[in-house]
Amino acid sequence: MKVTEYLANSNGPIISLEILPPTKGQSIDSIYAHLDPLMEFKPSFVNVTYHRAEQVYKKRADGNFERVEIRKRPGTVGICAAIMNKYKVEAIPHLICGGFSKEETENALIDLHFLGVKNVLALRGDAAANEKFFTAHPSGHRYAEDLVKQVIGLNNGNYLEEDIMEGVKTDFCIGVAGYPEKHFEAPNLDTDIYYLKRKVELGAGYIVSQMFFNNAHYYNYINRCRENGINVPIIPGLKPLTSKRQLTMIPSIFNVEVPVDLYTEMMKAKDAAACDKVGEEWLYEQCKDLLKNNAPVLHFYTLGKPQVVYNVLKRLF
Ligand code: FAD
Repeated sequence: MKVTEYLANSNGPIISLEILPPTKGQSIDSIYAHLDPLMEFKPSFVNVTYHRAEQVYKKRADGNFERVEIRKRPGTVGICAAIMNKYKVEAIPHLICGGFSKEETENALIDLHFLGVKNVLALRGDAAANEKFFTAHPSGHRYAEDLVKQVIGLNNGNYLEEDIMEGVKTDFCIGVAGYPEKHFEAPNLDTDIYYLKRKVELGAGYIVSQMFFNNAHYYNYINRCRENGINVPIIPGLKPLTSKRQLTMIPSIFNVEVPVDLYTEMMKAKDAAACDKVGEEWLYEQCKDLLKNNAPVLHFYTLGKPQVVYNVLKRLF
């Protein structure tokens, strides 16, 4: 079912999880081990992230270096199929512009359509590891809105090859990303919301937010979006912060604030278990408050910390 249909028909909070494909060479069992316990809470969606290929230099036998492209976390489409098959839940692949030509994107969309995937999250992706700024694939997309346009095109039966007449129409529900504390490249929140609105006007049906640790940012964002005429659901993205290292790493990577109370409690923690507990408490209080304020979905970035998310869900439901 489409995310928008779930939201329209639900009368209770919806749980959604986000996972990363394992690194190449690892078994899909690592995904199952991650998800199995969380299935107790009947999540409606499992998002699977997409990772662009990276350029690395490999030494050849003759001593020279050769630039090769490697994809460290392949398998998003296959993992979506495996999750739908094993757990009977909707899997939502992330699609990114970075590193993909329009044709590769179209082919991925065709695979997803054949698999019965109903939802996709359309994203730009970040700059490649060896680049400071995002550069588009020579025959790919520059912004997420261009990717949204392509998916909408395919929903209308428009394929890249113009001689495909009356092509099968896909029927994807499209989600896009939003940033309560603004995207790190955006000059200000208003400009960022302006571009967010364009994605919605093109046909995105819902927004998933970047993580935040202060719910006030999310509530303010909803108000600002509504004032600007963005009326689709805005799903809060939630991540447990569970180490002292993340206190500085998360703000620098994701451009999000760590509130002083969370910082202070984490600094007092004596060991890893105590850090997990601080993260759990914070996330639990965030969720309680979001539920009280009628958040449509709780979307958890479970990445690497399924036990903390499990503990929070156990306390909530
Ligand atoms: P865009 O909407 O294209 O916006 C990027 C920047 O450009 C913003 O500053 C925006 O204001 C500006 N902008 C947008 N359109 C225009 C325009 N037409 N002209 C000028 N400026 C414009 N990354 C991955 O690689 N894989 C993932 O699986 C993944 N999953 C994510 C899931 C969520 C919920 C979120 C919030 C992020 C995820 N990301 C992922 C990270 C995301 O790819 C980055 O944050 C990326 O830098 C921006 O993506 P976007 O889709 O928001 O881009």
